[in-house]
Amino acid sequence: METKEVQCPSCCQVFDVALPPLEEQPCEVDYDCEICCRPMLIRFEMDSAEAMSLADL
Ligand SMILES: [Zn+2]
Repeated sequence: METKEVQCPSCCQVFDVALPPLEEQPCEVDYDCEICCRPMLIRFEMDSAEAMSLADL
């Protein structure tokens, strides 16, 4: 499975997440950081991944 690096907005650590299939992008996925376990929202679009913090909402 293809993965993409994202940076956690809470702890700033970088980790890999699995990319959804291209036909399912763009999409947003709830994800818990693998390092600090805080929730974030990851937006997948055109094979890129961007993490946004949920803590600020
Ligand atoms: Zn984190």
